[in-house]
Order: sequence, then structure tokens, then C-alpha cells
Amino acid sequence: MALRLLLDKLSYYLEVKEVRRVERAYIFAEQCHEGQLRQSGDPYITHPLAVAHILADMHMDHESLMAAMLHDVIEDTGVTKGQISRRFGRPVADLVDGVSKLTGIEFQSKAEQQAESFQKMTLAMSRDIRVVLVKLADRLHNMRTLGVLAPAKRRRIARETLDIYAPIAQRLGINDIRLELENLGFAAMYPLRHRRLREAMKAAKKNRKEVVGEIHQSMEIRLEQEQVEATVKSREKHLWSIYRKMREKKRSFRDIMDVFAFRLIVTSVDDCYRTLGMMHNMFKPVPGEFKDYIAIPKANGYQSLHTVLVGMHGVLIEVQIRTVEMEAMASYGIAAHWEYKAGRQTADVNQRRAARWIQGLLEMQQQAGDSLEFLEHVKADLFPDEVYIFTPNGKIIELPSGATPIDFAYSVHTGVGNSCIACRVDGQLTPLSEQLESGQRVEIISAEEAQPNPNWLNFVVTAKARSAIRHYLKNQQHDESVDLGKRLLDQALNRLGTRYKELKKSQIKRLLKDTGASTFEYILQQIGLGNRVPFAVANVLVPKSKRKPVEENKKSTLPVMIDASDGLLLQYARCCHPIPGDPILGHISPGKGLVIHLESCRNLVEIRHNPEKCMALSWSSKPRGEFPVELKVEITPERGFIAALASRMTEADATIEHVSVDEKDAFTSIVDVVLTVRDRIHLADILRRARGLKQVRRIYRVKN
Ligand code: MN
Repeated sequence: MALRLLLDKLSYYLEVKEVRRVERAYIFAEQCHEGQLRQSGDPYITHPLAVAHILADMHMDHESLMAAMLHDVIEDTGVTKGQISRRFGRPVADLVDGVSKLTGIEFQSKAEQQAESFQKMTLAMSRDIRVVLVKLADRLHNMRTLGVLAPAKRRRIARETLDIYAPIAQRLGINDIRLELENLGFAAMYPLRHRRLREAMKAAKKNRKEVVGEIHQSMEIRLEQEQVEATVKSREKHLWSIYRKMREKKRSFRDIMDVFAFRLIVTSVDDCYRTLGMMHNMFKPVPGEFKDYIAIPKANGYQSLHTVLVGMHGVLIEVQIRTVEMEAMASYGIAAHWEYKAGRQTADVNQRRAARWIQGLLEMQQQAGDSLEFLEHVKADLFPDEVYIFTPNGKIIELPSGATPIDFAYSVHTGVGNSCIACRVDGQLTPLSEQLESGQRVEIISAEEAQPNPNWLNFVVTAKARSAIRHYLKNQQHDESVDLGKRLLDQALNRLGTRYKELKKSQIKRLLKDTGASTFEYILQQIGLGNRVPFAVANVLVPKSKRKPVEENKKSTLPVMIDASDGLLLQYARCCHPIPGDPILGHISPGKGLVIHLESCRNLVEIRHNPEKCMALSWSSKPRGEFPVELKVEITPERGFIAALASRMTEADATIEHVSVDEKDAFTSIVDVVLTVRDRIHLADILRRARGLKQVRRIYRVKN
């Protein structure tokens, strides 16, 4: 029966023990699919067996054949990848898993331009090209048995075959499978047109028989005279390619059928060119139709000579001339490179051989001095440096490999990137820095008031994301420094008895003239960045003669509000670690901007009343951010006390940045901790929890 037939076929080119492994995979699959039927009513196992037959005809290795037997067990029965791996080894399990993943993707080929992305994605998802070959064989058998399905489903599968799988077969140079997929797809997609075209072909064939025979004979005679060993085949055009020509090139059926096609298969490259000479000598070649794909192979590695001749009675004759090896390559493409050699055959070796195949193409191409474009295609297909990601509504976004959800967000729209706060990958909340993989579905969660994080620059890989983030931060910094400059100047003006709002045009004009600056905004920005002292600017704006007296105790009643969004411009002093809620002072240090200290900081004692160096500040009502603070803990050293202390603190949502322990004596250790908190209330909570530990004797904040 069918299994026997397969095993016989395999024993021609595989070793006995490998044939046995294929048989074992068959038996396992038969058990798994026990009781399942195909739509046609046949036992399910007939399908994997037929798929294996297709691969055996291509002389694929035993692992591919085992994968063919098992290709539906993960999807359709409860078997896991691990079980297959334990029973048949990792390589086979990987292949089966790869095929299952491809099967799991629902190709919604509504938009034409999507088709190419799907093709690329299919290839990108299969690190091992054998996965694609098994999948193609699977699809081929499903197409052969398509008739039993409901019309709507039949059309959907046919469309997908024409859009996705036939082009993949073509890219990989597997012509036999491509042609069959196309013709089956055509018949299922357009049954009426297919039938009419087939009937027209039949009729035309009768009329052409005589001419074909005549040309065939004259070619054979000539080849024999010249002692070239060759096979002459009269070639029939495929229905799908005729149909496409009629549609795309707007040619009539008659025009197309007026061309007679032949293929001459010879034994050496040398004979190819000799044969070409003979043909051009027998019939007149049509100028511009000769193509040398031997010297310059096609993108998928296809090699052949093509020419068009004017035969007797003026008919056109298309001729392809190639060697036996080139013919095998044209039929099986990349699969021809899996041709089995006894013994040491692993997936790895084959993958490397595929790489060598490409390398060979590269060399040929370089010798031919042609562009490398064709190679780029093949290389991108087999060694992908792109990933293909779905949007929530099924659109595909192509990104360089290593891309993250942030890259994805920016490639959808700059606005989406700028407002991105989190993401879901295949429905799961996922860090924004995670690298994406082909086939994942990514959903970006955004918030209106969100803004890009400078940190993102550490992991984005696309130029678009990078420049958009930089651009945003730069603009934001500009806006914020102008805004802060305004607030600082307002406070300085207040000390001179006026307000920012009360400034007159003439005052600003004079300031610009005095300072040589081109705009007032620029001066404000410089104040915000700490490059100009606000008090000095205020002095120019309000000359001594125009100042109103201000009572000393009112001078600092209008502190500048500090918000977390000023974070890019402000610095928090490391000597005293101010946090929201603390009374603070701003120290203006040119070049460094505004540095925020505790009002009580010892470093400010000397200068705190100098308005050119210090200014009153206060926190805005809701400062956001994380602020470092330093604590000292006096503790009784017991086993695990550091861990206990740390977990108390992190339970309260604090992040510990630094811990050091100083052992004073056998009974006392001093722990120095730097942690980040939101504000004083948060800190108070942490201190309270830490005091609850019995080992803690004293805990206090270090302010200098
Ligand atoms: Mn299947």
C-alpha cells in the first residue's frame, strides 16, 4: 500500500536506518490521528503520507520526511513539541513546530501589497528552510484535494495559494511545485475561466500538432548531425500563465497560442552555447529576445539560455536550452541542494550548504558584473534581517531585526510613539525594550500627557524612532527652559518691585539692545539653562531710577514653582538630597543651571542671601518623579538583617540604589542606604516600616 510505496521510493536514496526512522514517525502519526478523518472521508493519515511522497520525489532528507509525517500532530492532536523531541530528536521537533507556527497564521490577503510581506514573513519565521519546503508540500496536497471543501473556503485557500505560496516556491526556484500550485489555484479561484481556457487549449493543440511535429523533427535532425546529445521537448504553456498574459499584457488567446515553445536539454554548458548557435543558424532569431541566464542567473538561481526564433510559415518558436543539472535546479530549486549524501547529514550542514549555494550565486554574479540586486532578495529570504509585526487590525509592519515596541510605535505614527506608555505583545503586557519577533501582534497603549523617555534611546534601533525622540526632547527642553527662565526672571523682577507680566515693550527693546541678543525668548532660554543670571537681567530691565521700594520681608514671598517636568533642566544637589515636601533653595551656577538644595544645606550658608546666587523655590503641588535620599540605620547585627531591612523598604515601593555596612563593634552596625522615594510622605512611610523591625535601633535621614 501507500506506505510501502513510499519506503521503496526512499530506499533508493536513504540509508536503511533512516528509512526505519521515517517509518516510525509514520506509525506514531497514525496513532495520533487515529479516528480522525479528512473532509473527503479518508483517514487523516493519508494526508501526511501524501505530503511525504511529494518531498520524497524531491529527494529531501529523512528529517524533512519525518516532519512531514508529524506536521499536523501538534495542531490537531494533543501532542507537544517536547514529546516529539524526546521521541524523534530536537531537529525533527523544531521542524514540526516551525510548520505548525506557519499553519497558525491566518493570512488575510485583502490588500495586494500585503502579500509580499506575508511571503517574506513566512520565510523569516522559518530559520530552517526545510520548514518552508514541508509547508509547500503540505499546501500542494491540500490544493490537490481542495474539491471537497465549501466554495467560499476553497476560494480563500486558492487566493492565499496564489498570493503567498506560489510566489514563495518561485523565490526558492521550485518550479514544479509553483506551476502546480498556480494551476490548481487558478482552477479553484476562477472555475469557469479555467474550464473555457482548458477547452480552447485542447482545440488549439489539435491544430498545432502538425507544426509542432515538424519543428521537433528538424531540431532533432540538426542536433544529430552535429553530434550533440540532447533531448528535445515540446513545451506546453500553463493555463495560469496564459491567463495572466492575457490579462496583464492584454494579449489575445490566439496571439499567445501562436508561439511554439521547446526545451532542449544537453549535457554540458559548452553544448548549451553550441546548440544555441545551431538554432540561430536554422531559424532567424528575433532581435532583443535572446537572454543568457547561464552567465547571469535569475534571482532564484535559475539558469538557462532563452531565445525566440522565426520558424517556417512565420511562426514564433520560443527555445530554452540548458543542462541536465540546470533542469533539475529549475524543477526543485533550493530543494535540489538537499540531495542526500550518505552519513553525516544534519540540518546545520544543509543550511550551510544553502549558504554556499548563495555564495556560489554571488560569485557568478560578480563575474557577470551585474547588479547584486537579485542576491539581496535571496539573502534577505534565507537569512532575514527583518521582522514582520502585526498591528491590532492585521496590517503588517516591517522592522529591522532587534526592533522593540517603541520602534513599532514610531513606525505606525510619530504621535503614537510620543504618547506611548506601555504595550501588549500577543495580548501580554510586555516591557517596551523587549525585542520583537516575526508574527507577533503588537498593541501600543498610549496616554495623552505621556512623553518620550530619553532612556528609549538606549534600545531603539530604527532611525525614525531615534530622530523622533531626539527631536521631541530637544523641543521640549527648549520650551521648558524658556518657561523656567520666565519664572526665574519673574521672581527676580519681584525683588525690584515689578512683575514679568508688567514688562513693557520698551523695556524689552532696551534689554535686547544692551545685550545684543536677537530675541527675548533666547534670553529667557539662557536664563532657564543657567547661562544668564536672572537677577542681572532684571537689573537691566528695571534701571535703578525706576525701582519701587520693596519691603525686605516681602522679597521672597513668590517662590518659583518646581515641577518634575523641569527635570531635564534642574539638578538635585547630591550633598543634601532634597525631596518633594522639603523646604528648598535654588543655587544658580552658570553653565550648570539651577541646582536645588535643602534650605538648611550647609553648603549654602554663605550665599543664601545673595540674590545673584540663590533664589527661593517651592515644589509644585504634584511633583512627579523619583528622588534619591540617604538614610543611616543603626542596627543590631543579626543574620539576614540586611535582607530584612531591604525587603521592608522595597515593600513600601522604594528602590534601593546603594547599601553599605559599617561594623562599629559586635553589637552595632551602621547601614548606609540610598533609595529613591516620591516625596516626604513616602519617606515617612518607609521610616515607619523600618522602625518596626526589632533589629533597628535608630534610623534617620542624612542631610549633609
Ligand atoms: Mn497538513
